[in-house]
Amino acid sequence: MNFEYVRASTAAGAVSMLAKQSDAVFIAGGTNLVDLMKRGVVSPMRLIDINTLPLKEITLSGNKVTIGALALNSAVSEHPLVIKHFPLLSYALKAGASQQLRNMATVGGNMMQRTRCSYFYDTVMPCNKREPGTGCGAMQGINRMHAIFGSSENCIAVHPSDMCVALAALDASVIIRGAKGDRKILFTDFHRLPGNTPEKDNNLQPGELITHVEIPVNAFQQHAYYLKIRDRASYAFALVSVAAALEMQGNKISKARLAMGGVAHKPWRLTEAEAFLKGKEATETNFKAAAALAMQGAKAYEHNSFKLQMAPNAIAEALKKATSKA
Ligand code: SF4
Repeated sequence: MNFEYVRASTAAGAVSMLAKQSDAVFIAGGTNLVDLMKRGVVSPMRLIDINTLPLKEITLSGNKVTIGALALNSAVSEHPLVIKHFPLLSYALKAGASQQLRNMATVGGNMMQRTRCSYFYDTVMPCNKREPGTGCGAMQGINRMHAIFGSSENCIAVHPSDMCVALAALDASVIIRGAKGDRKILFTDFHRLPGNTPEKDNNLQPGELITHVEIPVNAFQQHAYYLKIRDRASYAFALVSVAAALEMQGNKISKARLAMGGVAHKPWRLTEAEAFLKGKEATETNFKAAAALAMQGAKAYEHNSFKLQMAPNAIAEALKKATSKA
């Protein structure tokens, strides 16, 4: 399929170009979009290259670090501000993809990447996300990689990012540019659950561009851990992952932030487990109790019931690793 290629030189220009054509999309690193186009999963008529926009900076201002949407995954993972303030984000980024992909993939692109559900990529199979109303091939199919939280009868896919799991745990926000100006939303409100509209992965509105991610400075540096369980040691998506960030006073947890990947259509924040852990001693019993709370409402399908055991074990193990760091 032929398509037009244009290059934007300003954020305002990029937004205006997108608004002019409904089947246009932004392209940055292209590490997911090009695959989707090659397989015929998406067929945009116009690619708007945003790589030259000035959105690569990583800066500290007041009590927050701002990361440009075009900062490369590898650059973010190795940036001194990220290593100093948010080691959890660095760990999660380094757990994702391969070094070659991290050298191309951007923060905004990482957020916008599509599920790796194999039925979504196979254009002869039914898929409500690719073609709404056609059904869900995974529901009765091979659903080993699929969701155990927040799924719907329309879609049981998971979001594939590691970076996004850390950003959800770190209370990040997303800055979005649209025709009417900028808006800011919580990172945890950016991605969506499938509900009746599985074709929508996130709450970006037509014509909008992600420009930055902001992370408030915190005190989780000493006790942060990203645990990723996958089929291969590298270059594989998570079966289950856990981002754990804690503030400790002696052996007592004063603040906890927890999120999971590989289990839902969006990064899955464990707020009940966080509340339970606040003020508790760092003991295996408390870690298991927090994990049990986090698993309430989990639902497995034919091939992914192993996640019902893997996930709580992963939560307890991530907490153990995070608390034992000095
Ligand atoms: Fe499509 Fe979602 Fe079903 Fe996968 S789980 S086949 S993405 S509708």
